[in-house]
Amino acid sequence: MLMKNKVIDLRSDTVTKPSQEMLQAMSSARFGDEYYQEDIDTKVLEEFCCDFFGVEDAVFMVSGTMANQVAIRCATMPGSQIICDKFSHIVYHCGQGASDLGKVFFNVVDTGTGVLTRNDIEKAICSIYTNYALDYPPLIWVENTIGHYGGRVFPMDQLEEIFWFSRKRGMHLHLDGARLLNACAATGISPHDYIKYSDTTMFSFSKGLGAPFGSVLLGNKKNAMKARMFRKWYGGGLHQSGILAVACLYALQNNVPALLEDNQNAKVLADIVLKGQDHVSIQSSIESNIVMFDFSKSHISAKSFIRQAKEEGVLLFHWSSSCVRAVTHKDLSRDDIALAGKILNKILALS
Ligand SMILES: *Cc1c(COP(=O)(O)O)cnc(C)c1O
Repeated sequence: MLMKNKVIDLRSDTVTKPSQEMLQAMSSARFGDEYYQEDIDTKVLEEFCCDFFGVEDAVFMVSGTMANQVAIRCATMPGSQIICDKFSHIVYHCGQGASDLGKVFFNVVDTGTGVLTRNDIEKAICSIYTNYALDYPPLIWVENTIGHYGGRVFPMDQLEEIFWFSRKRGMHLHLDGARLLNACAATGISPHDYIKYSDTTMFSFSKGLGAPFGSVLLGNKKNAMKARMFRKWYGGGLHQSGILAVACLYALQNNVPALLEDNQNAKVLADIVLKGQDHVSIQSSIESNIVMFDFSKSHISAKSFIRQAKEEGVLLFHWSSSCVRAVTHKDLSRDDIALAGKILNKILALS
């Protein structure tokens, strides 16, 4: 009989709770008013991010969602287009917000992998009538890691290619890098090397790094100046933001090595769940900390699998009617992962 004393929450890496050490750091915040640019800890975090990610400027935001919406405003006009994969987070989760706030439209590509190529972009540009002399250039939007495709890493050579193409055509390239450091852990490529091929990048402190919330928009001084303005417009002008900034700084200074373990745990989880049964398949390879269980060729529904798992103390995320997501994170040990894997495997064996 499996023990049911701990709930193993695999819905997302956002469910992590601040550690005692992080809470202690938060209690040492110095509390100036960021609205008057007087919060020292926020400045310290932004400067640390400039070094860590290799950019001119960094703008602290309350969420990745806000930072992405602000990035859209920095790079578009109302009416202009964003070229991106059909299942990008910005479309799948935040499309309504983007059309309301940014008044942009999405020219989506069904890449099947989440990896937007130069060819995809050229085709997308031609898919609607564009008069280059008169229209605002499209915003190119890529994600790394790619959420919908099970945390796939955006390949460096493709990124490089579309970046140089965007230069040639005067287009802005935004990297939605909520989980960029999971990609760095998976490939050994430094954040600097990824980010130099974008105009703006969003990174989130509240995914695998374990801060309660918070993100940063990275880029040059000109984009950062605009971003500070739009952040204020959108209600993101903060006051004693140091209490959050120190948590995010703590996360960046201490919790990066754990991402490698999270990536490895995703593989361990998939191996145990899949053992000896054929009701479910997963994405072609597990590159970071996400496992997508696909039931499209099975009689099992995503909903009933999630319900049964919950009864056994394992929480999963409903991605679509046939797809269930599990995300590993720092609050789950290898033992937790092994236990969750056994529970899910047992449910499938009995289905
Ligand atoms: C989580 C996530 C966001 C939003 O970040 P929040 O801090 O939760 O608002 C944006 N893009 C991607 C790819 C994400 O995974």
